[in-house]
Amino acid sequence: MEVQTVKYPVVRNYVAGQFEAEPTSRTMDVESPLTGQVISTLPLSGTAELDRAVQAAQAAYPAWSSTPIKERVQIFYRYKTLLERDMKALADLVREENGKTYDEARAEVEKAIELTEFACSMPQLIQGEFLEVSKGVEARVERKPLGVVASIAPFNFPNMVPHWTIPNAIVLGNTMILKPSEMVPLSAGKIAELLKEAGLPDGVLNIVHGDREIVEAICDHPAIQAVSFVGSTAIAKVVYIRATSKLKRCVALGGAKNHLMVLPDAHPEMTASNVAASMSGCAGQRCMAGSTMVGVGAVDDIVAKIVEEARKIVPGQNLGSVISKAAKERIEKHIAEAEAAGAKVLLDGRNATVPDHEGGYYVGATVIDYVTPDMRSAQEEVFGPVLAIMRTNTLDEALSIENSNPYGNAAAVFTSSGSSARYVMDHANAGMIGVNIGVPVPREPFSFGGWNDSKFGACDITGKSSIEFWTQLKKTTTKWNPESRVNWMS
Ligand code: NAD
Repeated sequence: MEVQTVKYPVVRNYVAGQFEAEPTSRTMDVESPLTGQVISTLPLSGTAELDRAVQAAQAAYPAWSSTPIKERVQIFYRYKTLLERDMKALADLVREENGKTYDEARAEVEKAIELTEFACSMPQLIQGEFLEVSKGVEARVERKPLGVVASIAPFNFPNMVPHWTIPNAIVLGNTMILKPSEMVPLSAGKIAELLKEAGLPDGVLNIVHGDREIVEAICDHPAIQAVSFVGSTAIAKVVYIRATSKLKRCVALGGAKNHLMVLPDAHPEMTASNVAASMSGCAGQRCMAGSTMVGVGAVDDIVAKIVEEARKIVPGQNLGSVISKAAKERIEKHIAEAEAAGAKVLLDGRNATVPDHEGGYYVGATVIDYVTPDMRSAQEEVFGPVLAIMRTNTLDEALSIENSNPYGNAAAVFTSSGSSARYVMDHANAGMIGVNIGVPVPREPFSFGGWNDSKFGACDITGKSSIEFWTQLKKTTTKWNPESRVNWMS
């Protein structure tokens, strides 16, 4: 019997500290991918809704940007404790709207806490510079916020990705418009409620829900100074070009095709568990997923262990659903095409079902061996729990496969040789490199961001690099005439 999922209230835009009235314009249903049932409805906003949000953010900006940063971070210290207090409710929301396992959803909120902690350290990180540049002349450099900024998020991390931008941008004095993914709009409202409870003044964070129309309106809006985007490469390019053509700052993170290079001297057990976790975590719907392995030389034993590990990953238990029916069909088509083209399916996750969740969109862990570089599953982002294994004879061949793909988010090598590891660190054409680590996410205070078609724009989206993105430098040169000093007498 199919389980009934929780029904959530209608999603509303959040402007000037209030949830707006129920939408009267275009709306869209929100499905839980765990069951395929409708759990809410959201507004698909347009320029009128965006204008209201921008006006609220503009109104809040003078007071917020002139609040000392040491006061601004106090709100985020309180917010961190509220995230901890409401961890379960936040993780349940992520699970319900995105389909992750509870542990994965909780890990997302834990990451949000780490991102908030980093923002709380901003007063230590953004001190200015000062120098007497010639006799009596002082130069001073300070970081100033940009104004109203926007953050556009994808479906795969409804809680964490908004936290890539909200704490840093806001602590640095900006006011913000958040546009969550229309597929997972629930977490954002709870984030707004907790920030209000922590003391964030009205209008500093505003949320407008919607699809393409609102994204285009954000890129075009003359009062928005900067746009950060996370999503697929095709849309990242469109957003980057459109926002920068309107003379805004933009950083746009795109999709990925991350290669895990496995050498014969790799530790078999550690490699197998890392590779299986990398390809299947969050049902493979991570831009850091190691969806492609390149086995160099004699690695049959390691491949066998990977299959053994992947077999332990069970839909509905330690493997969540994929986001939609369309995603499930796309992923299964990739598997079928690779098989038809001559690859060997060692573990087949097609047609997976979960008892009591028959309407859910599950794909089981899948391992395909002898994929060749010309196959679609070797070239495109599959975004499902699927590992495509290619074989080469040399590390240079493996690197040339990795480096000829247009993306450049992450790459990893598994080896017990320091010099092989170093060779990959030096020669892999990607922004984030793992050595014996399948998901090499740089933790705070380091910055997250790929290269090539995985990121457009100059800065990374988190960590120290994001400070550059969310601020501008004010340079003041000061000179006083020493003769004009008055020796006051009372
Ligand atoms: P997506 O590109 O479909 O959507 C992202 C955002 O763009 C959403 O808010 C959506 O409403 C909006 N959008 C969708 N179509 C649009 C259009 N035609 N014009 C303007 N806006 C549009 O991405 P997704 O499916 O939500 O997320 C998955 C993708 O995001 C994957 O490719 C994944 O690799 C990528 N991603 C990358 C990173 C990274 O750090 N590089 C992190 C997370 C996700």
